[in-house]
Amino acid sequence: MTALPTLESALSAHIRKVGIIGAGQMGNGIAQVFAQRGFAVTLLDVSDAALQKGMGTIIKNLGRMESKGKISAADKDAALALIATTTAYADFAECDLVIEAASENETVKRAIFAQLCPVLKADAIIASNTSSLSITRLAAATDRPGRFVGMHFMNPVPVMQLVELIRGIATAEDTFAITKELVARLGKISVSAEDFPAFIVNRILLPMINEAVYTLYEGVGSVESIDTAMKLGANHPMGPLELADFIGLDTCLAVMHVLHEGLADTKYRPCPLLVKYVEAGWLGRKTGRGFYDYTGEKPVPTR
Ligand code: NAD
Repeated sequence: MTALPTLESALSAHIRKVGIIGAGQMGNGIAQVFAQRGFAVTLLDVSDAALQKGMGTIIKNLGRMESKGKISAADKDAALALIATTTAYADFAECDLVIEAASENETVKRAIFAQLCPVLKADAIIASNTSSLSITRLAAATDRPGRFVGMHFMNPVPVMQLVELIRGIATAEDTFAITKELVARLGKISVSAEDFPAFIVNRILLPMINEAVYTLYEGVGSVESIDTAMKLGANHPMGPLELADFIGLDTCLAVMHVLHEGLADTKYRPCPLLVKYVEAGWLGRKTGRGFYDYTGEKPVPTR
């Protein structure tokens, strides 16, 4: 007797083709995990150079997993064969789900939705990986607020278990249920967060990082002493400044702005030193310099 499909597989079974916008650290990680679970993935970015950089990271990550014996060479090849790259929205016409993982800038995201919506199937779901922006407001910039949801993956995506799911005010119940099931199909755990600025994880994490930057700015400690203090004194696996560099200082600042404006409380004021670093283009690991210099063999504190 054939087993009946579980409610889970029945709900999201039609999701086979997934589009991902943004091939940066989040987008390429999301592409990798979907491809490893057998979904056909189309990854879009603004340039071939950005796509090549993203694919380079996926190839390196899968290669590392293979050399550690976590996956076979056949698994690696199968995952890579499932990922196509493009700079044209028309290639999303067959997608059942599109996850937007472009830079944390509302104007950029709105412009993306304006290009995306006209080519999508009527019932396709759009998810945003935003760290902080209102899902309700982003959804209202599309032609399908009921088929729009927040799907907030954590960095690095292939490693981190959590995905925060956020309903906008208009998100349909089945849209939410399908994305919740998809998270489980990816082998990850979801938590549901209400649509407040920065949701749960970043509402708590980013003010801590911002406070670490103030601690540096006020001369309470050096980069090394702040990170060592929090690793050995609070049992954090990474120091807050190391983590800020890992997240990207532009993303950290964008989240602090959203908290500051959205909650209208001065306790969320971004540290002026964080603002300066972003103005200088010192965005952390991705640009080779942030609170550490990454151009040598080992990261070296810059202050
Ligand atoms: P990133 O800077 O590494 O990558 C952003 C990518 O978006 C770049 O490749 C860029 O070329 C591309 N992009 C910019 N404008 C675009 C456009 N108009 N169309 C298509 N692509 C465009 O940033 P990231 O860290 O991957 O962050 C992406 C999103 O994920 C942001 O919304 C961020 O808040 C969120 N996020 C980041 C983290 C983190 O730790 N970095 C964690 C969770 C969520």
